[in-house]
Amino acid sequence: MAKQDYYQVLGIKRDAKPDEIKKAYRRLARKHHPDVNPGDKSAEERFKLITEAHDVIGDEKKRKVYDRFGQYSDNLAEAASRGATPGSGAGGGRTAPGFDFEGFDWGAAGAPGAGSTSGGGSSFRDIFSDLFGGSAAKQEREPPRPQPKRGKDIEMPLALSFEESITGLMTNITVNRSEQCTRCNGAGDTGGSIVTCSTCKGSGQVQRAGGRLKFSQECPDCGGAGKRRQPCSLCKGSGLLPKNETVKIRIPAGVDTGSRVRIAGKGEGGRMGAPPGDLFIITNVGRHKHFTRKGDNIYVTVPLTVPEAALGAKIEVPTVEGKAQLRIPPGTQSGQKFRLRERGVPSLRNPQLRGDQFVEVQITLPDVISEETKELLKRYAQLNSENPRITMGLE
Ligand SMILES: [Zn+2]
Ligand SMILES: [Zn+2]
Repeated sequence: MAKQDYYQVLGIKRDAKPDEIKKAYRRLARKHHPDVNPGDKSAEERFKLITEAHDVIGDEKKRKVYDRFGQYSDNLAEAASRGATPGSGAGGGRTAPGFDFEGFDWGAAGAPGAGSTSGGGSSFRDIFSDLFGGSAAKQEREPPRPQPKRGKDIEMPLALSFEESITGLMTNITVNRSEQCTRCNGAGDTGGSIVTCSTCKGSGQVQRAGGRLKFSQECPDCGGAGKRRQPCSLCKGSGLLPKNETVKIRIPAGVDTGSRVRIAGKGEGGRMGAPPGDLFIITNVGRHKHFTRKGDNIYVTVPLTVPEAALGAKIEVPTVEGKAQLRIPPGTQSGQKFRLRERGVPSLRNPQLRGDQFVEVQITLPDVISEETKELLKRYAQLNSENPRITMGLE
């Protein structure tokens, strides 16, 4: 940034007397003070520059350094005064060119001029007391600075198919999250003037509805102080900027409805350098045509023909990972269950482990029975004439 000439900034001649400097400064400071121009960034910049110029030109010693080098810094002052009266430069380092309004100490700012005899270093506080009727004293009570705060977690539902819940899934989702404001670093302000908090209208409390009840809560934007610094113009004081982010997520194999999958650092942004919250994906698993799930076990029912049940057979059964062979022993009854070990769902806790699959068989008859089959069944009935309901006391 090109340095502006301090004399030009104050609108005075190079040989201006201390009185003229003071007068020029008062006039300009009154015009550009942030309290008079709330929210006006350029006025604030202007005010900083005027104050910076006055701090140098209004101080006899610094002015000499400035006149000689065309700029002022502590190093130049030291170089110029080497061998000069010790102690006379005490406190002279307060006003470096990189003047920072935010860190400005309203009470002590007059001190640098204390050693000068010309009267050019009149107390900064004095000037503001008479400019604003003592309001400078009030300014010393700062609203509390916002503290670093980890971002909130976000929960997002995700629907996935039964198959995807078994195999796991890599996918991209769009998350409506936020990030720390780049302009104020999550503070919500950039150290401007103190204004009444617009969120709570100065009361320090906000109303929050919880069901049919209303709660009073400490205002989140001013921490209950009712006053805050002029909100950051970029984030409007929240300290956060909204961000629609595409996030790559990995859903592990074995999730069920209601599983919470954590995606670290993809929650709401943190404030004042604190880390962001996490994103939690809450899974909702769809139904399957054939399989049902209980814990990590899978249940399926398969039909069996009469000869397969009676004579035994080797049949194919579906599993979540394709077909499997199942041996049906002779004399199998309808409703009998068979276990296929480790053909169930991978365990979320230990991917090496799997649940089992249970196959329930159901004996079915063909839809249409031919005359020949009827003859065979009649013969079958003659051969097997015992009553299966005899244990129920039925004839
Ligand atoms: Zn508030
Ligand atoms: Zn901001």
